[in-house]
Amino acid sequence: MSQHPNEKAYFGKFGGQFVPETAMFALIELEKAYEEAKKDITFQEELTYLLKNYVGRETPLYYAKNLSEYYHHDIYLKREDLNHTGAHKINNALGQVLLAKRMGKKKVIAETGAGQHGVATATAAALLGLECEVYMGSVDIERQKLNVFRMELLGAKVIAVEEGLKTLKEATTAAIQSWVGEIETVFYVIGSAVGPHPYPKMVKDFQSVIGKEAKQQIEALGKYADHVIACVGGGSNAIGIFSAFLDDSTTKLYGVEAGGYGIDTDMHAATLSLGREGIIHGMKTYVLQNQYGQISPVHSISAGLDYPGVGPEHAYLFETKKATYAPITDKEAMDALLLITRKEGIIPAIESAHALAYLEKLCPTLSKDRPETIIVNVSGRGDKDMHTVFSILKGEKYE
Ligand SMILES: *Cc1c(COP(=O)(O)O)cnc(C)c1O
Repeated sequence: MSQHPNEKAYFGKFGGQFVPETAMFALIELEKAYEEAKKDITFQEELTYLLKNYVGRETPLYYAKNLSEYYHHDIYLKREDLNHTGAHKINNALGQVLLAKRMGKKKVIAETGAGQHGVATATAAALLGLECEVYMGSVDIERQKLNVFRMELLGAKVIAVEEGLKTLKEATTAAIQSWVGEIETVFYVIGSAVGPHPYPKMVKDFQSVIGKEAKQQIEALGKYADHVIACVGGGSNAIGIFSAFLDDSTTKLYGVEAGGYGIDTDMHAATLSLGREGIIHGMKTYVLQNQYGQISPVHSISAGLDYPGVGPEHAYLFETKKATYAPITDKEAMDALLLITRKEGIIPAIESAHALAYLEKLCPTLSKDRPETIIVNVSGRGDKDMHTVFSILKGEKYE
């Protein structure tokens, strides 16, 4: 059986295009433009050039010697934290903004939670000379003042969303509404492998550079990956690194979700662990919802994992057991952040610390006879999280 969508919009029964009729035009136009761009050597060369010279790819696959000694297995870190703007999100934002420009659009819009995707999109828009508007919940605007300022400095307009809980879910809904209103001139840059077709496939393609590099890098060492671990919010860094290993049944894949205060509480974002099939933001996937199908409020210490849905391909990989998904709590993630910081001198993003924390679960289950090779995707760097880490460690609010 193949991991590819059985019909072009679907991964098994997940995915699709659950959008108003007016948006169908734009999705069809987008799919056509994207298929053309994929085959256009000039487009691909420009993207490759920017990924190399602007983003700083390829990122290293770093052998974490101290961590390997600690866990008695060979641990390699894929260093997406070293990308320009500090995370993997720029791979996708550059790809989509370059496509928007190719399509002759004048303006891009984006949704953002913590502001990382907003910053990546504003960066790409500044570079490529497009107007940029970012929708952000007003609660998140208050929590992430520095990122709001970065976006404004880059020339983007940040639009406050006052609906509902005033966070990412509402910002996404507002961005979709605004896009439908201006569909001819505006390109909607989605920040994860979510949304209606063709977004999940397109975002996967733009992030698959992570997996391609990691596979080549581990093979260049004469090794192969026994295990690959990544955190899952919407699932773009995870599907990006998984993509190169999906056809290889010897490599085991792990997606780590936000366990928040614990999955026995209602303060988490463990969508695949505890969600049910439903529809959110134009796609059929797993959704955290109550018995009436209302989408549940979610919690994670890391804003990037704080989402009540998940990319449709992850729902498919979960149901077909091609990947394993597990929750990591806020506390386990913080403990891992401290461990990796002290052992390797690398301060990871709290999202990435969830993936690193999974070593604590996985390694004790492995045979001690031979060291196994484990790749962990370090999706981003911790700079953006310093105020959160400070307030936890010092027990006071840092502003
Ligand atoms: C946004 C973000 C994530 C989560 O997004 P995915 O689409 O699941 O990859 C993970 N890590 C970092 C550093 C992020 O900024």
